[in-house]
Amino acid sequence: MNAVLEFADPNTLAQVVDVVCFAVGAWLGSWFPDIDRIAVLRLRHRSTVTHGCAGPALAIVAGHVAANEWAGWVAAGFAAGVGLHLAFDLFPGKWRGFALVDVPRLGRCTKTVSVAWLFANVFVCAGLAVWTVPALDTFSFVACVAVLGVLYFYGVFKKSEHFAAGPLLTLLSLGADAL
Ligand SMILES: [Zn+2]
Repeated sequence: MNAVLEFADPNTLAQVVDVVCFAVGAWLGSWFPDIDRIAVLRLRHRSTVTHGCAGPALAIVAGHVAANEWAGWVAAGFAAGVGLHLAFDLFPGKWRGFALVDVPRLGRCTKTVSVAWLFANVFVCAGLAVWTVPALDTFSFVACVAVLGVLYFYGVFKKSEHFAAGPLLTLLSLGADAL
């Protein structure tokens, strides 16, 4: 069978659509936490409202309500993307000001609480992503990891002044635990 026919195989096409849904979710998730910068939301940057697992949990509930496999892939990607964002936020240049997470009405946390909060939420997001993904065969697994790899390198590129191995090691160890 040649490559074109193979690609037209409904199973392969369905897998590609699944991974595209995951990629869209992961891309949205990778920038979602920073919507706390939008003034109308009245949150301070690095708010625990958006820099945590609440967004992914809502996305998963919405995916469940939609009862659609594609929505499940988007939700799983979203959780993975938020986890990726939080892993980068674990490694700021300096633990000062905006680097510290902010609890609405209570104010900014200490460095220790911020690290614990972000670390715990990367772990929960990774777990939610693995738990939500509808069915993970070898192709989808490799493709989804590749999607996250691209987003990771994009993150490294964007924050080139920061220590890039930190987020990667955190994600690899937590991702392996979650699996
Ligand atoms: Zn952030």
